[in-house]
Amino acid sequence: MKAIVDLNLCIGCGACEGICPQVFRMESDGLAHVIEGADCDAAGCCPDAAESCPVAAIAVE
Ligand code: SF4
Repeated sequence: MKAIVDLNLCIGCGACEGICPQVFRMESDGLAHVIEGADCDAAGCCPDAAESCPVAAIAVE
């Protein structure tokens, strides 16, 4: 499983990082980025993070 953040949609609320800090990190641009090499399967929280995103910016595939 892999997570992708659509940076054109992200509003920088920080919810994904709060729920799944193993995978998502707020960067200096104020937006959430997927940590390089992060493993959604090991973290187990990518679907929850995607569901919590208020603007549906996170795709998990
Ligand atoms: S939950 Fe969605 S809008 Fe909020 S920081 Fe994460 S990707 Fe961006």
